[in-house]
Amino acid sequence: MTDTFTKEKRSDVMSRIRSRDTKPEKLVRSYLYSRGVRFRLHRKDLPGKPDITLSRINSVIFVHGCFWHHHKNCKRSNWPKSNVDYWKPKINKNILRDKQHLIKLKELEWKPLVIWECQVNEIDQNRELNRLVLEYNKSLIHASKN
Ligand SMILES: [Zn+2]
Repeated sequence: MTDTFTKEKRSDVMSRIRSRDTKPEKLVRSYLYSRGVRFRLHRKDLPGKPDITLSRINSVIFVHGCFWHHHKNCKRSNWPKSNVDYWKPKINKNILRDKQHLIKLKELEWKPLVIWECQVNEIDQNRELNRLVLEYNKSLIHASKN
């Protein structure tokens, strides 16, 4: 089967997939916010411009689309049937870039957490995220004691 998108159309579709403030991202943000966590968005001075930054506890969160960032063993990350030559190098590039960002962040002593799009529907059951919420709230208690 051939692809019906023109080049322009395709890059339009792609830019929408990549756009900020995606629905999964908003879900994570409002989950954190409702639990008293305050954060900054898309800090340009950090590797990979993390979606969410919890400066108090040196943690950053990326909310990744499963397809675009290639969530391993996730059915949403299946290669498209058409245009593999087009998608594959792009997605491979993303995988590599994501890895490099995580390495750089760790070097700078930031703790990165990746939350996948397919996990946000059960966000309240995300252990790592809940651990961050706890850590954040503990840091507030400490601050008020001093
Ligand atoms: Zn996934």
